[in-house]
Amino acid sequence: MHVDVLIIGAGLSGIGAARHLQMMCPGKTFALLEARERMGGTWDLFRYPGIRSDSDMYTLGYSFKPWTDPKAIADGPSILAYIHEAADENGITPHIHYNERVTRAEWSSADARWTVTAASTWTCSFLYNCAGYYDYAAGYTPDLPNRDSFEGTIVHPQFWPADLDYAGKRVVVIGSGATAVTLVPELAKRAAHVTMLQRSPTYIMTRPSHDKIADWLRAKLPAKTAYSITRWKNVLLGMAFFTYTRRFPAAAKKSLVKGAAKLSGIAADPHLTPSYNPWDQRLCLIPDGDLFEVLRDGRAEIVTDHIETFTPTGLRLKSGAELLADIVVTATGLKLQLFGGATLVVDGQPVRVSDAMVYKGSMISGVPNFAFAVGYTNASWTLKVDLTSTYVCRMISYLDRHHYREVRARRDPGVGEIPLLDFSSGYVTRSLPDLPRQGERLPWRVYQNYVFDRAMLGSGQLADQVLEFR
Ligand SMILES: Cc1cc2nc3c(=O)[nH]c(=O)nc-3n(C[C@H](O)[C@H](O)[C@H](O)COP(=O)(O)OP(=O)(O)OC[C@H]3O[C@@H](n4cnc5c(N)ncnc54)[C@H](O)[C@@H]3O)c2cc1C
Repeated sequence: MHVDVLIIGAGLSGIGAARHLQMMCPGKTFALLEARERMGGTWDLFRYPGIRSDSDMYTLGYSFKPWTDPKAIADGPSILAYIHEAADENGITPHIHYNERVTRAEWSSADARWTVTAASTWTCSFLYNCAGYYDYAAGYTPDLPNRDSFEGTIVHPQFWPADLDYAGKRVVVIGSGATAVTLVPELAKRAAHVTMLQRSPTYIMTRPSHDKIADWLRAKLPAKTAYSITRWKNVLLGMAFFTYTRRFPAAAKKSLVKGAAKLSGIAADPHLTPSYNPWDQRLCLIPDGDLFEVLRDGRAEIVTDHIETFTPTGLRLKSGAELLADIVVTATGLKLQLFGGATLVVDGQPVRVSDAMVYKGSMISGVPNFAFAVGYTNASWTLKVDLTSTYVCRMISYLDRHHYREVRARRDPGVGEIPLLDFSSGYVTRSLPDLPRQGERLPWRVYQNYVFDRAMLGSGQLADQVLEFR
């Protein structure tokens, strides 16, 4: 089967990409290949109690579809319903082909087309990878000694059993990231006791789950106008906060730690004081201080220690302390994976992604007619992906206008390389050797800055010294 544009993945990004194509390249044929049997990606896969966004939906939502639910920090099922609605109301759903896991994509310069291997074989002129950033088959779990000796249940949040009954049980959640801080207050509603066991703390910040200004604007203005104003408000506030924390790390650190200690009533040291500066890793946002509340009233606690071994009844820690548990949740993270694990081949040569350089945060060097959707690390995912989709559509129209069949970013050996992500989080540092690089300067540099990217990807000049058109 041949289409003009083939989109890999029917998650938040894939559906958004399809909508951009409909709006900006209405004459183009497209299809979405989805490995799973349902759309929604992350928001369909993750089913653990309390699953929610940790950024506001006015920026995690699409630019073209107002988020009208009063909850700014939304639960997983509401986000999934929003994705379904976007696909259904725009006639995208019939273009999704399920159970089509892409394993290989091969570019032929002679034919100026991709041959894509999934359950069936597809060809396309442009390949847009919206397969997310992690491995769907497995989460990350560190080596935990003697886990087989544990007589209770061990669960990874990526594969939460629908029938897991934790009412009245003692639960230990290993981890201190977004998943752990989401799970702990939710589990504490029914569990006998919840312990969040962390090796080292994370910055935790509370934010109202409802945005009063957004509510007011929605009541006074048409939905689209209200949404657009709120989106810009949140973009600018987010950027201002990020800039402040990077410029004044000591002051930011002090106020974040002090705020968390005051609201939770637990000791800042060792439980709430990270060893790194704010935004060296992603900050954890909690709605309405829910985690702080269960820590304050004793339904949950934080233990900062290292695991020595599992025991039949729980965990023994390096300090010698024992944690008794009926259920242990390994909220230890994701396994990063780019391009859905598919092998890329260009004119018979397999692409070594780790040797490639990212061009404008959207394409990679040496790989023609290919783009990928990966969001920001310091702001909502969709802010960037909406821009990437706009850029892809502009590029496809440019190729048509100039009767080109191919565009390729040619790597400049004179541009020094730096790691793609400057996060110190474990899941990032573990994966850096396998990721493409970014360059020291534009257009190879990735700035993680919405206003800058909006100018570059949304309206900036397309042809430059780097791109080769054929
Ligand atoms: C628990 C959790 C909470 C999050 N919360 C936030 C948040 O609040 N704010 C934020 O900005 N980001 C958040 N993120 C990041 C989040 O993943 C993105 O916001 C967004 O959902 C990603 O959408 P996506 O479509 O790019 O990727 P995904 O949601 O991962 O969807 C990718 C799709 O591609 C499919 N696919 C993968 N490989 C292949 C293949 N080889 N062939 C065919 N199909 C394939 C998958 O099955 C999936 O359907 C969160 C992530 C997680 C795990």
